[in-house]
Formats: sequence, C-alpha cells, structure tokens
Amino acid sequence: MEIIRTIEELRSILKRWRKEGLSVGLVPTMGYLHEGHKSLIIKAVSENDRVVVSDFVNPTQFGVNEDLDSYPRDLERDAALCQEAGASLIFHPEPEEMYFADNCTFVDMENLTKGLCGKTRPTHFRGVCTVVSKLFLIVAPDKAYFGQKDAQQLAVIRRMVRDLNFDIAIVGCPIVREEDGLAMSSRNTYLDEKERKAALILHKSLMLGEEMMRQGERNTEVVKNAIVQNIKTEPLAKVDYVEIVDSENLEPVAEMEHPVLVAMAVYIGNTRLIDNFSFEP
Ligand code: AMP
Repeated sequence: MEIIRTIEELRSILKRWRKEGLSVGLVPTMGYLHEGHKSLIIKAVSENDRVVVSDFVNPTQFGVNEDLDSYPRDLERDAALCQEAGASLIFHPEPEEMYFADNCTFVDMENLTKGLCGKTRPTHFRGVCTVVSKLFLIVAPDKAYFGQKDAQQLAVIRRMVRDLNFDIAIVGCPIVREEDGLAMSSRNTYLDEKERKAALILHKSLMLGEEMMRQGERNTEVVKNAIVQNIKTEPLAKVDYVEIVDSENLEPVAEMEHPVLVAMAVYIGNTRLIDNFSFEP
C-alpha cells in the first residue's frame, strides 16, 4: 500500500484506475486512525475496487485557539491500519500541497453550519466543506464515507453534494464505541485517566435521553434538560451544547414528529468531545 504525497501523483494513479474501469471509494480523515476510521475503510473496501484514505490534518477547519498544532499524528501507525483494512493507498499531503499560500477560495454553507458545533466553531465547516470539495475534485470518487460520529458534518456534506451537484454517493457509517460506550475519537488521547472515566458521561446521558424518548417523551426541552442535568453530575464535565434538531436540516424542533438528531459537545477538562444519536419517533 502506497503513501502518496502529491496531487499530481495521486491524479495519475486515479487516471490509470479509471482507464481500467475500476470504482473508487474515498475515506477522508485527519489521521491518528482508530477502529472508527477502520470501519469506514472496511465498508469502502467492500463496496469499491480501490479505496483512497486521505490522512490530512486540515488547517482551515481549526479555529485560532484550537488544537491544530497538538492534534495527534502517527503516519506509520495509520499506514499499518489502512493496510490491514485493505485500503489501496493513503493520500498524505503537506498543507502547502493542499493550499497555495495566497489561497482565497473557500466553500461556505449557510444554515446547517450555524448551530450545534458551528456556534463555538464558526469557521469550522467552511474549512471542512473546502477540504472535502478539494478531495472530491482531486479523487473524483464514486462513493465517499463519513461517520455518524460527526453527525453535523455528515448532514453538511450531504447538503453540499446536493447543492453543488457532486456526482458522488455519500455513505454514512455508524458510530464505533469503546467497550464502555465512549465514542472513539483521535482526541480521546488528550484525556488523562480521571478524564477518561468522566468522559463516559456523554454516552450515559445520551442513553438516558434515548430511554425517555423510547418511553414516549416527545417534548425536546424535557429530554434536553434531563440530559444536561445528568451531565452536570460529573464535576469534570462542562456542557458546550445539547441540542435536539431535525435530522436533515438541523433546525431545532420543539416536538419530535420527524427523525431527530440528539447531539452534544461537552468539555472534559480542556478536551472538547462530541457524541450523538438519531431517533425516529
Ligand atoms: P476525523 O479523522 O476525526 O476527521 O474523522 C474522519 C472520519 O471518520 C469522519 O467521517 C468521522 O465521522 C469518522 N469517525 C471518527 N470517529 C468515528 C467513530 N468513532 N465511529 C465512526 N466513524 C468515526
């Protein structure tokens, strides 16, 4: 399995594959891969002749005081995981390969990017849409794979593909969790032992909300409050947001009538973690 660092080289490989009539799947990642990423790659391998995993810590999706510099990186480990999962190649460009120093073109989206994570990370989705568009244009995959872990991102990408007429099928993949329920994330490595235990409050609180909804509760304020109160029982946790929104347009809803997304971001110490679940009333 090759590691490709330039767009030119990647394009020439893709051209060859296309000539041979092979289908191509793309799995965009920021590296430091875990079982969550692996599940996307395995799914992509099962549905395509060739699979490209992009491994790129995208600077444009980080805010000024965020963790761009400290974001964990380990290409060797990533390569081993990709090989094991059956990927065809890793695309690992330097930031300078992806962005000209005087780059001034971005892909921006209204509405879906303003709430949830967009509130505390106002420039995040502009960076995500821009880099994903660039990857889509460079790789031109038949299918691209994204995790439900980043539910807002998945909804945003689906909308972008629709609005910009990308001829790419977006495949959403379920959240992979640690045995104790914590959603796998590259950022979990920031947690010390105490924080790792405290981080369980995210999933526990979501399960509490889900149970209320399964029992018939349809008022979002009631469920939201119960979730927030439960998170507050954990001293190391600080709620960024808990929201219940329409699964498709991500608008807040009062009563659950259509499929909803229950999403949260919670600080455990200095680490901001996200988690969510979907519910069809
Ligand atoms: P990241 O490297 O964090 O940008 O994630 C790359 C892709 O992997 C995104 O589509 C994520 O939603 C997905 N992903 C990350 N963590 C998980 C997880 N625990 N389960 C499923 N997918 C995940």
